[in-house]
Amino acid sequence: MTKSFLIILCVLLAVSFSACSNSVATPYENEEFAMGTIIRQRIYHDNAEDISRQVIDRIRKIEDRMTINKAGGEINKLNSSAGKSFVELSEDTLFVLNKAKEISELSQGAFDITVGALVKEWDISSGNSVVPSQERIHSLLGLVDYADIIIDKSGSRAKLENTGQIVDLGGIAKGFAGDEAIKVYRENGVQSAFISLGGNIVALGGKPDGNSWKIGIRDPRGAEDSYIGIVSVKDKAIVSSGDYERFFERDGVRYHHILDPKTGYPADSGLIGTTIISDFSIDADALSTAAFVLGLEKGMDLIKKFDGVEAVFITDDKKVYITEGLKGIFEFEGTGNGYEYVEKG
Ligand code: ADP
Ligand code: MG
Repeated sequence: MTKSFLIILCVLLAVSFSACSNSVATPYENEEFAMGTIIRQRIYHDNAEDISRQVIDRIRKIEDRMTINKAGGEINKLNSSAGKSFVELSEDTLFVLNKAKEISELSQGAFDITVGALVKEWDISSGNSVVPSQERIHSLLGLVDYADIIIDKSGSRAKLENTGQIVDLGGIAKGFAGDEAIKVYRENGVQSAFISLGGNIVALGGKPDGNSWKIGIRDPRGAEDSYIGIVSVKDKAIVSSGDYERFFERDGVRYHHILDPKTGYPADSGLIGTTIISDFSIDADALSTAAFVLGLEKGMDLIKKFDGVEAVFITDDKKVYITEGLKGIFEFEGTGNGYEYVEKG
């Protein structure tokens, strides 16, 4: 009698213990290399290590499908079948292609994943990049047009219209992966976590103490750990694009990795950094790249087309502009680094 009572008590204790400890105060942290970048996770949950593995597995699956480099991957097949045939695609890849096309249309081609042939020619990350000739750029520009991505909805297939066309998901795939990571957290009952995919941050919930996450926005001309401001958020994606991520310099000119699909050269819009804060990181990723190409005014106009999407733009004359919705949750900290703060409607 006494014994069985004890057992029941233990079971009760075990149940209430695990119920309380699902969200733990000490985070589990993990770092892994995937999608060409460092993936950092911080998870508050008693099963965090296993959950972080599930996330990495999901991200690797996405990488396999969407990387340009892997033979047999879906985007790889799409590119090698350009001008020839349709390719069967997973729901993941079709979703990203559809989203990319949508942002291309809304940004009037400032965001365009068919810049692949130009990205390849510039080869910014290689370490021995050269500036391509104008003739070369001119001829490759003929391959850039998002309207040539033909999506056959009924058959879950897609095709690139012309031979030589190359889709490059470098400006959007990490964003998609971030949203998928959050889905894995939620499926596992996690209430508080964040993931950074090479600086693309997605926060689930708030901190375990109920406070918002504080995310620093990097000084585009400063050291990796210097910030121009901090945004406080819960349940948001924060994604930045800038000319400081990957670039090379020749004759005093900085050639960076975000190309203007209209010119074929690195975007020269007057912006040196864009940060988008939104509910989904796929939107934030594509929009940060698009706005970087468009520049301050047109970039702001683009952001206004989306409900609940906010932005921080940094110009080459060191001015920091924020959208209306960030007032109160953005703290400017760039004075010491020579930045000036401007609120924008
Ligand atoms: P990061 O990869 O540093 O996070 P972005 O999200 O801004 O930066 O994406 C830049 C990448 O997107 C480039 O490396 C290239 O692969 C691709 N890209 C470059 N220019 C464009 C563009 N105008 N539209 C869409 N993708 C682009
Ligand atoms: Mg991007």
